[in-house]
Amino acid sequence: MTSRGFTYWLIVAAVCSVAATGSNAPAAEVSYIDVASGRSYARQQMATAAKFYGLEMEETVLTGRRDTASAVAAIGDPNIVAVVITANTLSALDQQQVLAALRKHGHRIPVLIVGVTEQTDSAVLRQWSAGAIAGCKTSAIAQGRGSYTVSSITDITRQLSSHRFPLNQTDIRYMIMDARHGVQLLMAAKLDSVELPVFANVALGNQVLFFATETRADDIPVSPDPFREQAVFATLAPQLMFLRYAAGLRAWHSPASYANLTIDDAWLRERYGYVDYVKLLREAQGHNFHVTVAFVPWNFDRSEPAMISLFRTHPDRFSITVHGNNHDHQEFGLYKTHPLNMQVDDIRQALARMERFSELTHIPYSPVMVFPHSISPESTLAALKRYNFLATANSLNVPSDASAPPDEEFALRAVTQAFANFPSLRRYSAEVPIPESQLAIDAFIGNPMLFYVHQGFFAAGIDSFNRTADTVTELQPDVQWQSLGHIAQHLYLTKLRDDGAYDVRLYTGSTHLENTQKRESTFFIEKEEDFALPMDVLVDGQPYAYERVGTQVRLKLLVPGGKSREITFRYRNDLNLAAVDISKSSSRISIIRLLSDFRDNMVSRTALGRRFIRSYTGKSSEWNGIAVILTGLVVALGAWHLSKGRKSVSRVARRGVITVTGR
Ligand SMILES: [Zn+2]
Repeated sequence: MTSRGFTYWLIVAAVCSVAATGSNAPAAEVSYIDVASGRSYARQQMATAAKFYGLEMEETVLTGRRDTASAVAAIGDPNIVAVVITANTLSALDQQQVLAALRKHGHRIPVLIVGVTEQTDSAVLRQWSAGAIAGCKTSAIAQGRGSYTVSSITDITRQLSSHRFPLNQTDIRYMIMDARHGVQLLMAAKLDSVELPVFANVALGNQVLFFATETRADDIPVSPDPFREQAVFATLAPQLMFLRYAAGLRAWHSPASYANLTIDDAWLRERYGYVDYVKLLREAQGHNFHVTVAFVPWNFDRSEPAMISLFRTHPDRFSITVHGNNHDHQEFGLYKTHPLNMQVDDIRQALARMERFSELTHIPYSPVMVFPHSISPESTLAALKRYNFLATANSLNVPSDASAPPDEEFALRAVTQAFANFPSLRRYSAEVPIPESQLAIDAFIGNPMLFYVHQGFFAAGIDSFNRTADTVTELQPDVQWQSLGHIAQHLYLTKLRDDGAYDVRLYTGSTHLENTQKRESTFFIEKEEDFALPMDVLVDGQPYAYERVGTQVRLKLLVPGGKSREITFRYRNDLNLAAVDISKSSSRISIIRLLSDFRDNMVSRTALGRRFIRSYTGKSSEWNGIAVILTGLVVALGAWHLSKGRKSVSRVARRGVITVTGR
């Protein structure tokens, strides 16, 4: 768009801002009632869980020891979907008046009693639970002993049913339950064969009351480790389960469940190491998974016609995403050895090569970057955004020069926009066991489950991934296995508003927003923006008015029933793909790529070779010194290539020792 056009749309945006303002006006959805003011751990947990689901929590502090009136007024708010009362507060309330106020809503408003401790009056507990909960006790436990177990009450525990989570506490407060009174155990601390109830519910007529004991987790160190999710989740599990149950579609949720298997480094040759695409297709069809090749752009002009045809005829099972550019050693490493300007040049060349790949093969690629080795520094993510990549997916979603954010939401969601305002996704290596509880939490939260392997993973058989795929299907029967591009375009969260419209939170620069309702619906859309780049907002390719509010872009969109619309944030940049040199002029890089092929296609075929690769990957600096072995590889490579009738690689031998880039 021209700058005049841009100015015009800014004006339109300003004029239309009135229409969008107020769309996100908060109304209390969770009523939190306490006798004491101040920051308690229970309040903090509840506020964290409410914020996670995008629910507005309003706190009511009672004025005295008998103040049911304040509580009844708070409960009467027509917008509320859940009521939370601290255990200390129960004795200040008239239970019958509270229950009557809840009944006035005409639909169920579940209540959670939080912070039950041994100090909670057992007579009051018994009264509020109709005799089902007789008291609370404390048990000291050795750190790291035991685990939390979740029951299987499907409308509440959902995908978490029957899973275990870490117990990071030195003592446990647990409820004494009287099974004769129809109490449902939802979560317990399990020590050996003993189960200590920490979360349960009781039905009083049509009213459901939940009870959760006070939990005080020991510090969970902040780190980028994605598996920290389990420990963080365990500390909030009752609150998150309760609010998900109470709020339903009013809570932030994903449009669907997504999963993907990515094979790093491969290109379209039959076979690539242990990857036999024809056989893998049969496994993917039989076990319902999708395979993305994380494709090194340097390989853009090497695809074999039979494999091109296979990928083109099975876009539901095969796709391509971007894996670095040359896959040169640490090409997206720290800036002191790989300056930002070089990394930006690599991104530009990667895009130009991938465009050429698509021209040659008629296979599209996802503009999602999987960095070779590990994620780049933060400013490189800003460059990905500038060049309109949709996202990046790596084993860690925290850039190599940044620290992990301390908030729980970061630990719980697979995607973060905390770095350069660009969506960064975490993914799991399926080459090592993945705790099933991690996947259960992902399914419960709606996180995309992204897996990756290298070709050697299939040495044990082309069916090696089937079990993981089956586990995902068991956890989430309606899971959609899709390309990384499709998943990036469906990363948004949505929630139903009390006026029947929807709020939407976008993460990606291009989103397919789907209206699954039969009727036309209004969507109030928000996206975090740092406004560091000039941009245009388009809907179905046409410029669209938006409002800028603080660090957010907001827009209002009508979507007909059963239809979808494409919302694009197009960042303007200087990239002219036709002017980017995509030639493979560096002999050093050519040698690295050929050695890499040799590693994956020849060396890894033997147990000895695989041991070498594993050792090399772990101790590359030591190995770099062992010139003899590499020289041997070079000679062997030469012989292999000659035997294949390919062009001579005598330059390789002349050049001497090269670093074989890792995985
Ligand atoms: Zn790689």
